[in-house]
Amino acid sequence: METIFVPVICNSCKRHSVVSFARVELKRLLGGGDSIELRCAYDDHTWAASSRERDRMLKLVRENDAVERIARRRAGIFNQDTVAF
Ligand SMILES: [Zn+2]
Repeated sequence: METIFVPVICNSCKRHSVVSFARVELKRLLGGGDSIELRCAYDDHTWAASSRERDRMLKLVRENDAVERIARRRAGIFNQDTVAF
């Protein structure tokens, strides 16, 4: 689960597409409060993620972390990565 796929709706053409982020990078951007650039796959329009979009991304990261923990537990590896933000 190293890549997180964020569903987005383009501000310009209103089409749905997906932006992918490396998980560590997305965590860093969300945690640091940096501006996050989203890009439409259809017309290359870019925009900064709104607070609503950031909330959604945070949720995706948390879900991804939960899935990762379960997968590791099943594999018999205990996760010491308890990064919280
Ligand atoms: Zn677009």
